[in-house]
Amino acid sequence: MHEVILIKYGELTLKGLNRRSFEERLVKNLKRRLAPLGSFHYTYAQSTLTVAPVGGVSLGGAGTIDNGNVPEAKPVRAAQGDERLPADVVRRVGMVFGIAAYCRALCLPKSMDALLDGAGAFLAHDLLAARTFKCEAKRADKTFPLDSPQISAQLGERLLKQFPHLRVDVHNPEVTVTAEVRDRYIFVHGKQIPGAGGLPAGSSGRVLLLISGGIDSPVAGWMMARRGVNVVGVHFASPPYTGPRAEKKVHTLMGKVAEYTGGSYLHTVQLTRVQEAIKQNCPEELGTVLTRRMMMRVAERIAFAERAEALVTGENLGQVASQTLPALASTDSVCTLPVFRPLIGMDKQEIVAIARRIDTFDTSVLPYEDCCTVFTPKHPRTRPNAEIIAKVEEALDIEALVNACVANEVGTVIV
Ligand code: ATP
Ligand code: MG
Repeated sequence: MHEVILIKYGELTLKGLNRRSFEERLVKNLKRRLAPLGSFHYTYAQSTLTVAPVGGVSLGGAGTIDNGNVPEAKPVRAAQGDERLPADVVRRVGMVFGIAAYCRALCLPKSMDALLDGAGAFLAHDLLAARTFKCEAKRADKTFPLDSPQISAQLGERLLKQFPHLRVDVHNPEVTVTAEVRDRYIFVHGKQIPGAGGLPAGSSGRVLLLISGGIDSPVAGWMMARRGVNVVGVHFASPPYTGPRAEKKVHTLMGKVAEYTGGSYLHTVQLTRVQEAIKQNCPEELGTVLTRRMMMRVAERIAFAERAEALVTGENLGQVASQTLPALASTDSVCTLPVFRPLIGMDKQEIVAIARRIDTFDTSVLPYEDCCTVFTPKHPRTRPNAEIIAKVEEALDIEALVNACVANEVGTVIV
């Protein structure tokens, strides 16, 4: 008797002929995320992917996706006398994109006695906290001597004896106990846990995220990652106006996003000379939009080198002066790659809720200076005029400034 994880695919099932490659990518991503925690079998059958610890159960047979020679793999150690999977395994499965829902299940030998003896103890935590339940059986193996209603009835009866406070409610139960009779084992499980959703990382190409130390950009990166893209980051720092703690914060944030994609890369660019040139040569109220145009130019050059196919920002309509429609149009007009702004129509509370969910919020609110705040004009122009901007930019040697930024950028691998 061992605990396994049963995974239901999300949109993957809609992908028709591509499905196999999406599935392989999902398994590859799961392997990468779980490898440091142990060695697992991945088995696909009956539209469910089963993740089982090596040494726990060998599900074998058709549909097994070989675990391969994962270098860091080591046997899974559950707590002594316990066949449960470590909590971290379950947590990491919950972070992998492409999974609609998953559940912890007990893998039992194919006998009614094993099911009746094992189910109650395995689900005791949920059942003790509930008032109502129902049992559901799914019999994929039609040679099993009992049919589904008989399995449910016997299991329900046993659970009622073990947990006399419970009542059966077939319409609206607090806990549904599901017994799945498969080819070689019976799986029993309680509630399904919602997965991270989306598409497996790496299935939709690569984007470059402009990541500040704020709340928004990491959320924007996560949202794009959920659509299956690999996210590489670029951060603009302004030393000595900004310090190493601000950069460390951005590394941490990029690391949080990479936890969902599995490894990334962060380019750090010094923008100080650009910002000083703008401050010295251009009207103060245009400083913000001019800086953002320079950021986009530099970011696009890095994106080309990275073979990223789009830029991503955490901009959100109307939030600040640089995020009006004319200001956004003005920044877009300096680059040819598409610029995605997944937060554009969201409310701040919605963004904060995601930031909390993906655990970036507490880092984002640390009070270290960002390169924009240092040079922010007192009264930024919210409706920049294209002709005026073009005229003003004549005072800057744009090509030289961009080249200098690109030449001095520093790359860091994020794991
Ligand atoms: P955030 O919370 O992501 O900082 P914000 O609402 O504070 O966003 P701005 O500071 O105007 O808005 O920045 C808008 C977007 O521009 C950011 O979401 C980010 O994508 C990009 N950006 C801003 N500052 C930087 C920076 N120092 N390095 C990289 N990108 C940046
Ligand atoms: Mg900001």
